[in-house]
Amino acid sequence: MARREITNWSQLQRFQPREIFTPRSEDELAAIVARAGVEGRRIKVMGAGHSFTAIAVTPDFHVTIHALDQLHHVDQSSGVVTVGAGITLKKLNRELDRYGLALTNMGDIDKQSIAGAVSTGTHGTGLAYGGIATQVRGLRMLTPNGDVVDIDANHEPELFRCARVGLGALGIITRITLQAVPSFRLHAVESSHSLDDVLEAWPDTIRANDHAEFFFMPGGRNAARKINNRTDEPAAPLSRRRYVADKLVAENIGFGVINRVARRLPRAAPTVAKLLNGSETNRDYVDVSHKVFSTPRWVHFYESEWSLPLDSLVPAVRQINAFARTLGKPVTFPIEVRCAAADDIPLSTANGSDRGYIAAHVFWGTPYDEYFSGLWSIVREFDGRPHWGKMHAETAETLAPRYPEWDHFQSARRRVDPEGRFTNSYLDRVLGPVG
Ligand SMILES: Cc1cc2nc3c(=O)[nH]c(=O)nc-3n(C[C@H](O)[C@H](O)[C@H](O)COP(=O)(O)OP(=O)(O)OC[C@H]3O[C@@H](n4cnc5c(N)ncnc54)[C@H](O)[C@@H]3O)c2cc1C
Repeated sequence: MARREITNWSQLQRFQPREIFTPRSEDELAAIVARAGVEGRRIKVMGAGHSFTAIAVTPDFHVTIHALDQLHHVDQSSGVVTVGAGITLKKLNRELDRYGLALTNMGDIDKQSIAGAVSTGTHGTGLAYGGIATQVRGLRMLTPNGDVVDIDANHEPELFRCARVGLGALGIITRITLQAVPSFRLHAVESSHSLDDVLEAWPDTIRANDHAEFFFMPGGRNAARKINNRTDEPAAPLSRRRYVADKLVAENIGFGVINRVARRLPRAAPTVAKLLNGSETNRDYVDVSHKVFSTPRWVHFYESEWSLPLDSLVPAVRQINAFARTLGKPVTFPIEVRCAAADDIPLSTANGSDRGYIAAHVFWGTPYDEYFSGLWSIVREFDGRPHWGKMHAETAETLAPRYPEWDHFQSARRRVDPEGRFTNSYLDRVLGPVG
């Protein structure tokens, strides 16, 4: 029988696994893991398939756990909640809302599964806020022989530290316990500036505001800055008309159309780039946190994102922008710049120090080699650490020196998965073979 093809969101990954499983319970999942062990097969869970890299690809047992998406436990007074690992951030936000709780920070979208987001170090922005993995207080995991283990800061603390950004290499997560916070509103101010002004003010901006980021067209001179601060002001969301006009029509439908034109007619790309560089943003509103953090992303793209030492961010952005001006064809998709707080998770891109983040994109289906490889040479000079779910060409050899706790992760991996049941070719490349 022909094998079914699985594709991810970006369609950069296409593969035909030997068998596909959609378990409806933890027990069913444990039996599948145990069977993989007996038959000597590799096994991988794919969350929402929103990673660009082959991190969730497997030739053997492909598992999706969308059915494991229950809210298992809520302690409203402490904000500690336990959820099934397959829950999407969107459903999680909805559930938390019902109890007057929220995630303290999140990235740009809410389509990911919590396990997938945590496992790759998914982050938002804010110098006082770490990635989603820093909100994890406990994990229930399946070991290679299908045994269930509950780990946290007191039980298997070292494995817990590593497994919070585990890249899917340390076991299959079935439940996640998170520290949520009382729900809160954000006052969002989105405005246009010259890129030079935004860069100049960036070190102060990130210290003076809870969540700051900016976007600019590669090679351009303007930037759109987004500042979100926690507030007690009453909700004053964008009107429905403004939301549809700005967030759906301009940022998605219109943006998609002009990118399609630029892809089909490369001669139009400089005009498109100029048009996008000149576009103005001016919004001021107050809304529930997750409605401000996450936005619709209908236009598909390819992405490469890097974390850099905080002080290197501005010089790196300047170099990347100068390099983008030398490209044969202008890029018609913006670069996004963010920051995050230091953490103690061995393979977190923010391990050990506060970090700045630079994310470069190209429209889906357009060539990226020249742009991304030039960008990669620049960020390597700054000891950049790639987002585990986004495109890069690093290997275990080049990555190890950039992670002070690299060996901690490697010994956890050797201990829990000595036969490489949870590995795949991407993990073999970025972590090296098990052992
Ligand atoms: C439009 C878009 C916007 C994005 N925005 C951001 C952003 O703002 N910030 C950011 O940091 N990233 C962002 N990302 C990247 C994205 O958050 C990560 O790639 C994330 O891993 C995707 O989650 P997922 O559920 O799709 O996981 P997948 O891509 O399906 O899987 C990722 C990894 O998690 C593992 N995994 C999944 N479930 C389990 C489990 N139960 N147990 C063990 N391992 C598991 C998989 O095996 C794989 O190794 C974005 C991606 C897209 C496409």
